[in-house]
Amino acid sequence: MANPNLQGTMRNGFAKIAGLIAIVVLIGFCVFMLSADSFEKEKPQIALSSEVWNLKEFFPIALSDNAGVKSYQVSLIEKETKIPLKAQQLETKGADCNQDATLSSQQTSGAKSLCIGIQKPSNLKNDAKFFTLEVSVTDTSKWNLFSGNTTTQQFNVSIDTKKPQLAIVANSYKITQGGSALVIFRAEDEYLESLKVSNGKLDFKVQPFYKDGFYISLIAWSKLDDDFAAKVIARDRAGNVSVVPIGYFQQKKQYKDSTIALTDAFIDGKISALVEEIGAKSLEEFADRVDIFRYINEGVREQTFERVFGVANNFDVESVVEDFSITPFSPLRNGAVMASFGDHRTFTYQDVEVSESNHMGLDLASVKQAPVLLSNEGEVILNEFVGIDGNTVVIYHGLGLSSLYAHLTSSNVNVGDSLQKGDVIANTGSTGLALGDHLHFSVLVQGIEVWNAEWMDAGWIKTNITEIIAEAKAVIDKI
Ligand SMILES: [Zn+2]
Repeated sequence: MANPNLQGTMRNGFAKIAGLIAIVVLIGFCVFMLSADSFEKEKPQIALSSEVWNLKEFFPIALSDNAGVKSYQVSLIEKETKIPLKAQQLETKGADCNQDATLSSQQTSGAKSLCIGIQKPSNLKNDAKFFTLEVSVTDTSKWNLFSGNTTTQQFNVSIDTKKPQLAIVANSYKITQGGSALVIFRAEDEYLESLKVSNGKLDFKVQPFYKDGFYISLIAWSKLDDDFAAKVIARDRAGNVSVVPIGYFQQKKQYKDSTIALTDAFIDGKISALVEEIGAKSLEEFADRVDIFRYINEGVREQTFERVFGVANNFDVESVVEDFSITPFSPLRNGAVMASFGDHRTFTYQDVEVSESNHMGLDLASVKQAPVLLSNEGEVILNEFVGIDGNTVVIYHGLGLSSLYAHLTSSNVNVGDSLQKGDVIANTGSTGLALGDHLHFSVLVQGIEVWNAEWMDAGWIKTNITEIIAEAKAVIDKI
């Protein structure tokens, strides 16, 4: 027979244990809720890439949340009433949710970042200049009794359906393949965002010119590009884009072609010595002599260009160009021309074509360690050993124009120095990829090597640069 007292004690014991377990579970649940991602308390974020809209494409709205976006709602606020708008998911080309985003074919739910867009609200008045948008977004968190965290934000969006106004004021009459040209134009827009000049392949920066609303750009047609189609492109914050072609007379130029047979002595000598001087690779890493030559002629040549381009393309585009005067470059007294700009070279090894290059400067030679003269005032922007160019000095002259002096024995300047016309900046040499003592001289337009002959010709400078600036000023003064 069972003892009733004992049974009662056992029942009490079970109840206590059950209660204890319940408390532990509850505490555990609370700790889990507070710490687990699924119960996180961080609110979603809403961001606009622009608060100006052209009403044409989708108006993009970026939503993000560290847990994930569950739902969103976009409304038009009109006299304190909320009119729901249809928001659709957009696909972004880059990482940003901006006006380039297009309608997405698939819907993602629970994404950590989402780009959504609305189209022109049908009930918006035709002459409206702005409207108020309310965006509400909820995340996938189970916080707030499983309803998630919600952010609601209002935005005042300005309407701008007008394209930027663009007009060419003056430009050089012609451009030669490999050469330079100038353009001066007017651009107007209430919400102007960016201006650039494209030649169809490369983009060029613009600088403010002379008076408010006017801009100038010195551009180039790379010797390496066959096609050229110059245009000014303006974009405003609403996504309106204007494009105006620049009517240059285009002249193709035939550059010299030559074939050079590589010898073992050349690769084992100058080329191998340069590999060791650069120090990024050791000679043992290469399969054969051709491999060594290609590394210098292609890899290091590209690195050299990138380094010089990076420095010469990084000029001040904010300062207003009041005027620009330049005199013909003449860097070496009695310099004999050893090689010209644009020379195309095909290299053969044991009668097989193995590599090629384009010589993007002018080679001048006189006596050894001849003084290099500066023909125009400027600021030293580079003074270092750069790959195939060896010891190099680059001087910035304004308006995106720089001059480069390579293969130097030594230089007399420092980065940041302001130099005067006539200064001796360095002495010629044969550092880098150079056989004998000579000066490799280049003219750079926004970092692109151009046909130096134009910048060594007073007549060309007068017709294509000086007179164009004077003509533009005369036109602007009458406006
Ligand atoms: Zn050269």
